[in-house]
Amino acid sequence: MSAFHYRNGVLYAEEVPLPEIAGRFGTPCFVYSRAALTAAYRAFDGALAGHPHLVCYAVKANSNLAVLDLFARLGSGFDIVSGGELKRVLAAGGNPRRVVFSGVGKSEAEIREALALGVLCFNVESESELHRLNRIAGASGARAPVSLRVNPDVDPKTHPYIATGLKENKFGVPFADALPLYREAHRLPHLDVVGIDCHIGSQLTELEPFVEAARKVLDLTDRLASEGIHLAHIDLGGGLGIRYRDEQPPPVEEYGRALTRLMHGRPELLLLEPGRALVGNAGILLTRVEYLKHGETKNFAVVDAAMNDLMRPSLYDAYHDVLPVVLDTALKPSLYDVVGPVCESGDFLARNRELRVTEGDLLAIGSAGAYGMSMSSNYNTRPRAAELMVDCDRVHVIRERETIEQLIALEKRLPA
Ligand SMILES: *Cc1c(COP(=O)(O)O)cnc(C)c1O
Repeated sequence: MSAFHYRNGVLYAEEVPLPEIAGRFGTPCFVYSRAALTAAYRAFDGALAGHPHLVCYAVKANSNLAVLDLFARLGSGFDIVSGGELKRVLAAGGNPRRVVFSGVGKSEAEIREALALGVLCFNVESESELHRLNRIAGASGARAPVSLRVNPDVDPKTHPYIATGLKENKFGVPFADALPLYREAHRLPHLDVVGIDCHIGSQLTELEPFVEAARKVLDLTDRLASEGIHLAHIDLGGGLGIRYRDEQPPPVEEYGRALTRLMHGRPELLLLEPGRALVGNAGILLTRVEYLKHGETKNFAVVDAAMNDLMRPSLYDAYHDVLPVVLDTALKPSLYDVVGPVCESGDFLARNRELRVTEGDLLAIGSAGAYGMSMSSNYNTRPRAAELMVDCDRVHVIRERETIEQLIALEKRLPA
């Protein structure tokens, strides 16, 4: 049974009815299921059982401390893209030695901090970064473990904003430049060349691009070995898609089988950096209908959640399910755009949905566990939503709702 399911016409998170959560904690709020998070991690980890591996959860998908804590307890490593995310991993009890540090713009301070903490690897994205790392490591008498993020120029067949492995993307080093860069990294005195990595995009729904990218990365790894540069790990990134609507992403078992088969007999540790696949469908955004507006050509359900809470529909025209929390078949269904209170026409959570709703009803926006809260903002001076984690019949507040006082606390008026 899914963690979010109906019982007698009422939507539950595990053993807790969502109307009870709305009553106790208010709306909008993100509700995550501990069981669903755990199951997703175990399925992913289990699918890789055929080869020595480390799952490095991509923190940016959902960086709440309780989520990181849960994954750390399950044995996960972490993929981070900032010094802030590194601090979160530490605060959640994660082990820095299981952290890979990705990102095109690592600052000096971030590098120094990560080096001092002994991260597993810096996933380097440019020649300049390689030299910066070498210099900082040298100055602190350390050696920096490095991997080069190579850009395999594979079309992930996903939304252009979340495709990262094409030639025209800002990420990684061009495949053709990788070999000379590896030779250079190998020569630099304060670097340890330990791995290779790639990440071709997000929300991939086909296996083929993963396999194509992996083949290229493995070929390059062999080429490096023939020159005496032996890598300890191969990091094939994240990107496995989830079902938002009717997508058919490869089942995680199939994905795992394909990758472990490619790794068969190889000495390197396999690393993966899943984000969305571990958290996306383990969360919903709970919101209340404030007003129904029946326009000339359109009906609007104005809810108390908005684009600042869940940006994906506005940013990528992404589809999220909209589920009535209490099924009421007595109501007449109408076609609605589900929109928020933010002053932007682009502020919508869903469009053209047939819903049976009245004012005051609760709606659950599906698949909100990934890139929901972590991409949220305070636009329109909207305090960020509360985050809750349901564990069987218990509800843990894992982030309190922000207050307006907190939002303006860092601001100052002009001197008199
Ligand atoms: C965003 C990102 C991930 C995670 O992507 P998902 O699609 O959420 O799995 C992994 N690695 C890197 C380098 C990323 O930037």
